Amino acid sequence: HAKSEGRNRMSFFQSRMDETLRMRKMVEDDLRRAIKEDQLVLYYQPLFSADGTRIVGLEALVRWPHPERGLISPTEFIAIAEERGLVIPLGEWVLRRACEDGKRWPNLRVAVNVSPIQFRHRGFVESVMRVLEETGFEPSRLELELTEGVVVGDADAAEAAMIDLRALGVHLALDDFGTGYSSLIYLRRFAFDKIKIDRSFLESMEATGESAILVHSIVHLGRALGLIVTAEGVETKEQHRFLQALGCHQLQGYLFSRPVPREEIDRMLGLQAHPEIPAADAA
Ligand code: C2E
Ligand code: MG
Ligand code: MG
Ligand code: MG
Repeated sequence: HAKSEGRNRMSFFQSRMDETLRMRKMVEDDLRRAIKEDQLVLYYQPLFSADGTRIVGLEALVRWPHPERGLISPTEFIAIAEERGLVIPLGEWVLRRACEDGKRWPNLRVAVNVSPIQFRHRGFVESVMRVLEETGFEPSRLELELTEGVVVGDADAAEAAMIDLRALGVHLALDDFGTGYSSLIYLRRFAFDKIKIDRSFLESMEATGESAILVHSIVHLGRALGLIVTAEGVETKEQHRFLQALGCHQLQGYLFSRPVPREEIDRMLGLQAHPEIPAADAA
């Protein structure tokens, strides 16, 4: 009896696995087509000044409008794209579109997320140069968001690429700060302009005093190193007040704005240009 139960369980898992593989294959084929046929879209989430009143930057976040499955979040397809080598064309598509779109907002810096696999790919720096040249986007208005994963493996190659990018005038942000493997030494070795404190610290801030202490330390460390300190995932007024009091430079999160289509950014910036109409809830 126990044996047949074991067998049943195995076939259950086996079919679940087949299902997952089928899904992945489907996603891969669909995604390949979506990239080729220009079906992906970029949403933008504004970064706000510490007082929450002014938009000081924008982060491009890719979305996949799928005919049957609706708007698919990158958390569901970036990993597959990385596994299947699709993240190179996807990343280049994102970069090009963000630089094109960025020309709509003359005074703002546009941040683009870069997968570690994309970053470590030979020719990444050249592809950035090519896109900047072809789009005519000002290099100093481009910010690349890297994670600590870019440094894993060949740290010397990563360092060289970062130096080249900085020489172009491109800005570099360390995304999801505090979640990676790297030590604080990396902050000194690699030439980042900005750190973005991972939102998991904010999520647990109310629950545990320790997270608040960590956030406090990160903000002070970043400031002491001359970096721009940004917090992501700000959802409550309490978090906003805390981060503002600490001296965090920029804030990003649902409290201020979700990621939105570019037309919505146009609208928000249009409102901001007319100060009699408040641009955002000043909290
Ligand atoms: P990320 O770069 O750390 O982006 C922040 C994520 O947090 C975004 O999710 C954003 O929508 C979400 N977020 C922002 N504010 C809040 C908040 O207040 N509360 C909560 N709960 N979430 C908030 P999204 O757009 O689903 O992107 C997830 C991740 O996918 C990104 O994390 C980034 O690592 C990756 N990603 C997004 N776009 C791209 C891209 O174009 N290329 C690459 N390589 N990766 C991308
Ligand atoms: Mg990011
Ligand atoms: Mg992040
Ligand atoms: Mg993240």
